[in-house]
Amino acid sequence: MYINCKCGGKIYDITDGHRDKARWLPDKDWDNFIWALDSLSKMKDETDEERDRAVFNVLKKFKFQTMHQCESCGSIFIFNKGDNKLNIFESNVKENSSTIFSDE
Ligand SMILES: [Zn+2]
Repeated sequence: MYINCKCGGKIYDITDGHRDKARWLPDKDWDNFIWALDSLSKMKDETDEERDRAVFNVLKKFKFQTMHQCESCGSIFIFNKGDNKLNIFESNVKENSSTIFSDE
């Protein structure tokens, strides 16, 4: 999948680990996410399989969403959770705008 940016840039989303991609969680879910991590850190007597399943369940429960940034112009792209429509937020910072997600 790729997104065509208004500036002519293309944003690809074919693997994880992209410097122009970020994951986000609504702030209303943050405290519960931290509590879930705390619970995972206390799993000492469970098997590896049980811990893996618990981690998977936490990630499934909180459903981080993704956002992308055009490296050329800094615009941000976020898909709506419900209907998967694309929201575009144009950047007013044209220099070093690609450093929002990465400090490389
Ligand atoms: Zn762009």
